[in-house]
Amino acid sequence: MVKTESTVWEDCLNLIQAHVEEQSFKTWFAPIKPIRLDNNTLTIQVPSQFFYEYLEEHYVHILRECIQRELGEHARLEYSVIVDSGDKGKSTNAGYSVTLPNERHKTSNGHSQSSNGQNELNQNPFKVPSLDKDLIFSNLNPNYSFDNYIEGDCNRLARSAGMAVADKPGITSFNPLMIYGGVGLGKTHLVQAIGNKVSEGSKANFVLYVSSEKFTTQFTDAIRNNNLQSFTNYYLQVDTLIIDDVQFFSGKEKTQEMFFHIFNHLHQNGKQIIMSSDRPPRDLKGLQDRLLSRFKWGLTADLQMPDFETRMAIIMRKMQADGIFIPDDVVEYLAYSVDTNVRELEGVLISLIAHATLNKTEINLELAKQTLKNIVHDIESEVGVDYIQKTVGEYFQISVEDLKDKTRKKQIVIARQVAMYLCKEYTGHSLKSIGYHFGGRDHSTVIHAVQSVCDVMDIDTEFRNSIAELKKKLRVKIK
Ligand code: ADP
Ligand code: MG
Repeated sequence: MVKTESTVWEDCLNLIQAHVEEQSFKTWFAPIKPIRLDNNTLTIQVPSQFFYEYLEEHYVHILRECIQRELGEHARLEYSVIVDSGDKGKSTNAGYSVTLPNERHKTSNGHSQSSNGQNELNQNPFKVPSLDKDLIFSNLNPNYSFDNYIEGDCNRLARSAGMAVADKPGITSFNPLMIYGGVGLGKTHLVQAIGNKVSEGSKANFVLYVSSEKFTTQFTDAIRNNNLQSFTNYYLQVDTLIIDDVQFFSGKEKTQEMFFHIFNHLHQNGKQIIMSSDRPPRDLKGLQDRLLSRFKWGLTADLQMPDFETRMAIIMRKMQADGIFIPDDVVEYLAYSVDTNVRELEGVLISLIAHATLNKTEINLELAKQTLKNIVHDIESEVGVDYIQKTVGEYFQISVEDLKDKTRKKQIVIARQVAMYLCKEYTGHSLKSIGYHFGGRDHSTVIHAVQSVCDVMDIDTEFRNSIAELKKKLRVKIK
């Protein structure tokens, strides 16, 4: 098929979307238009100078990777910036040219060399073809460092253990190092920071970051393609193995067996293993005991939601990094209002900056309140209590009235509890407000419902699958 600017950019977007937060993707990539493809040069149009600078500062890495993947090693990306001429509706293009190659420099033997162990992989005699394309992205993201990982009570142990491990991989007693914490609390950032520090310390140390999801896919692909030997050999050469989100191994017996084997081999050979999980090992259901017991050999450290002061520090650090000024009262307001997780905090900050730049207004308290309101409103209007009640009702074949009614029939009680649980997960409603929407029940009933659903999910696979299916239905709506 002949490549055009549209097809090339579309392929790039597919890759970018898989690796960038949804909010950031919408803000920074959706508005871009591909306008020209000239041999190996793709020109994209961006809405403003700020946009161009922001992309260059935050996403140059990923842009480079995907454009090279599409157009080869000598690929170039050029920006065309729409300059507002003051005359409404009219715009002119100012050309900015950015040549992508390359941080990787040619070494004397002609091999391309990068700082993250890719070279070692290129020379790997057991190179697995199917792994090759994943390499680019399973590598470390240099934006994640200890420097920009703000310390607080919420992460002190995990952070300092991470530093110790990064200084002496495989030598401390923190092996494996297991980091756990809820979504958006900085697990990936921390484990990547460790990886980056290890490779800075020793180029010879082959660090590999991989999500357990990707590990699983690679493993199943290897089986399918009769490549298992190469897959194993590849992993056995790693010096510092970072596996993100191990809860994903749950219920995947064959993958766990493979990981168990790799784990043992690396551990016995003094290699470092770092893992993250969204819950503590004792709550990792569906994982074999022998694997769980291995996880407990080293150190397990948790991450909590940062307190108010730490959230302030995180916002200020981000502003500083972006060269943006936000008045103190706005910083305080954001730190105070967004208390769910750091990712969400960053999302709000990005929206705020984007609003201010696109509308050419200054960032003040009023704009912050407006932005936050829009975001919360978006979430609520997309899946609201009504929609959840309807979806759950249909799923359990129960009317919405029954969900709100006082009936104590078992099936109805279960459906009601599930609906309450999902409202808690997906809407911004308080417990009190959820109770109100279910026939005026009080908040303790909602707490009880949420707890019961969690308890049953822990022990009943079929029930857990039902919830997963419902969540899938709701997520389709969110997208
Ligand atoms: P998780 O993997 O736990 O879901 P991430 O590591 O992806 O979370 O973190 C979400 C976002 O929050 C990232 O952009 C990360 O850089 C940022 N973040 C989390 N904790 C901190 C922290 N202590 N200091 C600075 N940034 C943080
Ligand atoms: Mg993560």
